[in-house]
Order: sequence, then structure tokens, then C-alpha cells
Amino acid sequence: MDKSIIEKILAIVVPCYNEESVLYETTKKLVEVLDDLSIVISHDSFILYVNDGSKDQTWDIIQELHSQEKRVCGVNLAANAGHQNALMAGLTIVQDKADMIVTIDADLQDDVNAIKEMVANYIKGNDIVYGVRKNRSTDTWFKRNTALAFYSVMKKMGIKSVYNHADYRLMSRRAVKQLLMYSERNLFLRGLVPLIGYKTACVYYDRHERFAGESKYPFSKMISFAFDGITSFSTKPVHYIFIIGILFVLVALSIMLYSLYSYCMGNTIEGWTSVMMSIWFCMGCILLAIGVIGEYIGKIYYEVKGRPRFNIESVLID
Ligand code: UDP
Ligand code: MG
Repeated sequence: MDKSIIEKILAIVVPCYNEESVLYETTKKLVEVLDDLSIVISHDSFILYVNDGSKDQTWDIIQELHSQEKRVCGVNLAANAGHQNALMAGLTIVQDKADMIVTIDADLQDDVNAIKEMVANYIKGNDIVYGVRKNRSTDTWFKRNTALAFYSVMKKMGIKSVYNHADYRLMSRRAVKQLLMYSERNLFLRGLVPLIGYKTACVYYDRHERFAGESKYPFSKMISFAFDGITSFSTKPVHYIFIIGILFVLVALSIMLYSLYSYCMGNTIEGWTSVMMSIWFCMGCILLAIGVIGEYIGKIYYEVKGRPRFNIESVLID
């Protein structure tokens, strides 16, 4: 075995919001995974719980677990920042302490054993390993179909994303550092990570029901998350307004010709021609103008995000 691999430290980052009912079991399972991996990774590998402003006993339990097991670490956010921000907080903290970082939800829905396969893929030279659900049989009909619709809208909008992958993934230190350079506020990590590049792989796993407690993503939050996902990555909706504006003006021109023709043939009542012409033409112009303004706003949108322009994989300079 390559010695340098055994020295690599794995950090498992787990965001927690009101997860008191799952933490003992989650810790047990994750520590087992670290034990199983101890022949291939460093003994300094650890779990980092990010308490995202929980209102229950989550932080007390994390402190208790930390006092019993040195591989359990914790960070307590001052207020609820949301799942994506909690993940970013965890990644920021571990970026210089670990060589590879896995992010996983606290509720044991994702099969923790896939971490072993992720590490194997990291050892093979992959910088990003996506955890992908084999199927959605444990989802309700509604969740399954809304998820499908969401992925197809994402695809139509030209947004790169990995089908059936959520925030269960392994990233190398350099991939995490690159991700942290994306300073945008409207976070949608599963859209950002594919922008990084590097060599990637997927591991497939069965997703279970939540071990205990309730989902922190009720329907309203799911919708706003999906909306964020699309609006944080694509200016296509604005572009469509511009296109519709052009179509309206073209339709207006033919309606103008038709109205004039009807007027000349004497088939119209007084005022009809001018009303028809002005309604269509003005509407077309307004839409076109909004579209043009939208195109500029789209440019500002990309500027304010300040995303890195490129990511260097390797250089060959003597
Ligand atoms: N979570 C968080 N902050 C929040 C909401 C959720 O840190 O404001 C965590 C939560 O504790 C869990 C993960 O994000 O570890 C995913 O949430 P959940 O399992 O409720 O989502 P679902 O699996 O139902 O989509
Ligand atoms: Mg869950």
C-alpha cells in the first residue's frame, strides 16, 4: 500500500438542524466507517458536526459525543444559516485539516457505506466523487415526479447537474478550495460543484427512509430551493422574454398589414384598425424593451457573482 495514501486525512462534514433524535446512531455508524477505513486512511480522520442553530439538544449531544470520542468534532453556528450555508461553514473549517472531505446529511438516509467506495475512488485519483441514488423507490409519487421535472427543467436551462445526486459527495482538498472561491450568496452546491472540473466519479447507493425525526425540507422550502437552483445558474428565462418580444413585434407587423388591408377593403368599424395596430405593436415593443434590459441585468448577474474564471488542473512549465 502506498504510504502517502495511509497518511491522508478524511473529514466527514455533517450539517445538523434539530437532529437530536439521530445523532447517537449517526455517530455510531460513521465511527464504524472510520474504523473500517483505518487501514487505508489516517487515524486522524474525523467527523465534523455543524450545528446549524438547532433549537433542541443537538449541540449538547455533539459536545457530549466530543468528550467521549476524540474523532467527533463540532462547530456551533450562532443562528440557523440553512443547509447549504452550514455545509459551506463545515468545508471552510476543514479545508486545511483534511485531504478529502465527505459531506453527508445527519439522518442516515444516505448509505454511509458508500463512503468506503468514495474513498476508493479518491485513491484512484478522482477529485470529486458523487453519491448517486440508485432509484427513488423510497420517495412518494409526488416527490419522485417533482424531482424528475426539476432535473429536466435544469437540463433545458443549460445547467450542469448530476441526476439523482444531492449533497452526498467526496471532494479532495483542492476541489473544496476551488469551491470556496465561489463567493455567491444564493448557494446551490449541486449546481456549483460540477463547474469546478477535475476528474470525477460516481458511486451508487440505496437511499433509506429518514432514521428518525422529520424532514427539514417541507414542500414550500423544496420549491424555493428548486427556484434558487434555476435562478442562481441560468439567465435563460430572461432571454426567453427577449425572444417572445421579438415574436410579438413580428406578429404585430403582420396584424398591422392585415388591419390595413381590412381597412382598405372597408371591412372595419371606425377605430378598430388603430386599436389593433397600437395594442400589438406597443405590447411587442414593451416586451422587447424588458428583454433588452433583462439581457443587461443578466450580465450584471454574472459579474456580481464574481465566480472564478477558470480552474487550473495542471501546468507544464519548466
Ligand atoms: N439542515 C441544516 N439546516 C437547515 C435544514 C437542514 O443543517 O436549515 C440539515 C439537516 O439536519 C440534515 C440535512 O440538512 O442533516 C438535510 O435535511 P433533511 O434530511 O431534513 O432534508 P431531506 O432529506 O428531507 O431533503
Ligand atoms: Mg434527509
